[in-house]
Amino acid sequence: MPACCDEMFLYETNKVTRIQSGSYGTIKWFFHMIVFSYVSFALVCDKLYQRKESLISSVHTKVKGIAEVREEILENGKKEEGLSVFDPADYTFPLQGNSFFVMTNFLKTKGQVRGLCPEYPTRRTRCSSDRGCKKGWLDPQSKGIQTGRCVVYNQTIRTCEVSAWCPTEASEEPPRPALLNNAENFTVLIKNNIDFPGHNYTTRNILPDLNISCTFHKTQNPQCPIFRLGDIFRETGEDFSEVAIKGGIMGIEIYWDCNLDSWFHRCRPKYSFRRLDDKTTNESLYPGYNFRYAKYYQENNVEKRTLIKVFGIRFDILVFGDGGKFDIITLIVYIGSTLSYFGLATVFIDFLINTYSSTSCQSHIYPYCKCCQGCAVNEYYYKKKYETVVEPKSTLKYVSFVDEFHIRMVDKQLLGRSLQDVKGKEIPRPLMDFTDLSRLPLSLQDPPPIPGQPEAIQLLSEEATPGSSSSPSWCQCGNCLPSQLRKSQQCLEELCCRKKPGACITTSEPFRRLILSRRALQFLLLYQEPLLELDADATNNQLRHCAYRCYAIWRFGSKDLADFAILPSCCRWRIRKEFPKSEGQYSGFKSPY
Ligand code: GDP
Ligand code: ZN
Ligand code: ZN
Repeated sequence: MPACCDEMFLYETNKVTRIQSGSYGTIKWFFHMIVFSYVSFALVCDKLYQRKESLISSVHTKVKGIAEVREEILENGKKEEGLSVFDPADYTFPLQGNSFFVMTNFLKTKGQVRGLCPEYPTRRTRCSSDRGCKKGWLDPQSKGIQTGRCVVYNQTIRTCEVSAWCPTEASEEPPRPALLNNAENFTVLIKNNIDFPGHNYTTRNILPDLNISCTFHKTQNPQCPIFRLGDIFRETGEDFSEVAIKGGIMGIEIYWDCNLDSWFHRCRPKYSFRRLDDKTTNESLYPGYNFRYAKYYQENNVEKRTLIKVFGIRFDILVFGDGGKFDIITLIVYIGSTLSYFGLATVFIDFLINTYSSTSCQSHIYPYCKCCQGCAVNEYYYKKKYETVVEPKSTLKYVSFVDEFHIRMVDKQLLGRSLQDVKGKEIPRPLMDFTDLSRLPLSLQDPPPIPGQPEAIQLLSEEATPGSSSSPSWCQCGNCLPSQLRKSQQCLEELCCRKKPGACITTSEPFRRLILSRRALQFLLLYQEPLLELDADATNNQLRHCAYRCYAIWRFGSKDLADFAILPSCCRWRIRKEFPKSEGQYSGFKSPY
């Protein structure tokens, strides 16, 4: 395979920590069951496996009903009260869109001709002399153009004269009760055709087997498309007679919730009603619904008209809803979007492990936490799960004192202070892995005794004379020496093996056997490079560096810490004494980053 393709044909996956725990296993399954139940429930109940599409529709209405209206009629030249019949052509008006209008009340101004006449008296149109009127004045609220004269309206009142349709319309309140009060018995037939273009499905609200003499009733006849106007108002809790006086707007909602799957086919409308105009507005804000229209006629070659102010109810038909059909892509997208919920158990259990591990218990929760058994277990899981990585900065150093259990992390510039005196942050000492010791079989064997001068005695004689008199002030063990480095770098090497006064680590048995044993270090070098040629001078340098490394691994436990570990001065000089450099200065610790 060409080299470029090696990169391509790689598969990477996450490594996970599996925790064998009854309680966490139960929590996991509990969460998974809840998520699975919810996801399945939502899938079936909301039919989330369906592709939904909204409908397009057409509506046609037909109002039927006859009303008798008591009004003034002219008979043989005399005005008389009489009954006149109103049929649909009289009380319905063609409207645009999905609406129809039913007149319930009206005010008529009969026999108007174009001419000059006084305005209907209101606060605005009254006058006492011609000065109160203005020629040519055109008020959008008035009925005509003022002539500038103030004329008599009746015995007591004078108003401005206008050029208009005369006599002018009176500003009157609509009759109470409404003239067509029995319009509540009118019926309307609504024909509604709908289409779902995406699903290629068409249907209508009137099915062939419908009994055409029915009347809609919410529970007994909910599919009947013939509605009594009074019933519509009763459904919404309104009083028809009250609305009929000034008019209003009523919504008829047709909701189609269609399931177009063949195994559960259902596509029937649901009717509901809602009053759409603002019934709470007070008088001054023009309540109700009205408009004016005129009927024109000729009388003795004069054009005349009857002006009618019509009050009534506009019915708006609102058709909405959607149709759904099984769609494999929708189902896959839904399943994909729910998969993330199965991670909820992980988030929750990780939260428990983090919160109740004793590291966090000690810092803030511990005083109230009675669960220290649980904390210890969580602590164990925590250690297995998390690996903390410290940023490898050039200022990072680790320090270990033989009389302290913890290792200290120092992450700042020393600025002339001895490293011995810097406090640092305590971090736990990595656990000792004893398998490493088996790699050093030679160091644990006693070296062959040199006749006449046993090494142990030689060592003891050294211990007996620690350089206490010459040791610097920061030294606690009596074996440290001042640094040889430049003044600015000296503070890094001002470090003892102890925090409090006591025996030096260089006098210990493991130090002698692991760090100072020439045989052991030589073996380690050969272990790394089996055919290494060991010549005298270079070997000393190699052995010395190897000894530093051995010490760091021994006292700091992990390779990560060893790279930044600072040797105490006593160890540094003891190692240098054992494996000295033939010429020049020792260069000291260099940060690997
Ligand atoms: P050199 O042999 O003349 O260069 O001088 P040294 O005997 O001081 O050895 C220098 C090497 O040992 C460098 O690679 C240093 O990083 C390493 N070294 C010296 N001191 C320390 C120390 O305190 N800690 C660690 N981890 N390495 C050290
Ligand atoms: Zn010391
Ligand atoms: Zn020491």
